[in-house]
Amino acid sequence: MTYDDSNIFARILRGEIPCKKVYEDDFALAFHDIQPRAPVHVLVIPKGPYVCMADFTAQAPESLIAGYFRAVGAVARQLGLEDSGYRLLVNTGGDAHQEVAHLHVHIFGGRKLGPMLAKS
Ligand code: 5GP
Repeated sequence: MTYDDSNIFARILRGEIPCKKVYEDDFALAFHDIQPRAPVHVLVIPKGPYVCMADFTAQAPESLIAGYFRAVGAVARQLGLEDSGYRLLVNTGGDAHQEVAHLHVHIFGGRKLGPMLAKS
C-alpha cells in the first residue's frame, strides 16, 4: 500500500495548512472536521505515513498503535464525551467511502447519534 504524502492530512501534520487543533502528543494529532456531522466531530490521525486501518495495523510499530489508540481515548475524554457517550468511525477503502488516504478516526458526539448505520 503506497502512501502519498501530498494528502490533506499529511499537509496538516506538516503544518502546511491550518487546522482547529484539539490535542497533540508524540503519536497523534486531533482537530475539528471541516464539515462537522455532529455538534462534536473531531478527527484523530496518527503521526506516521499510514493510508488506512489495514495499512496501520499491518505496518505500524506497537508503540505507535498503542499510543495512537490511547490518544483517541484521551481526546474523547478531553472533549467531555465520556459521560454522554460518543461514536468512533474509521472508513477504510472504497466501500466505506474513505476520502482522505491518511488513517483517521472520526469522533462524533454531543447529541443522540441514532442507529449505527442508515438502512440500505
Ligand atoms: P473520510 O470520508 O475519509 O472518512 O473522512 C474525511 C473527512 O475529512 C471528512 O469528514 C471531511 O469533512 C474531512 N476533511 C477533508 N478535508 C479537510 C480539511 O482540509 N480539514 C479538516 N479539518 N477536515 C477535512
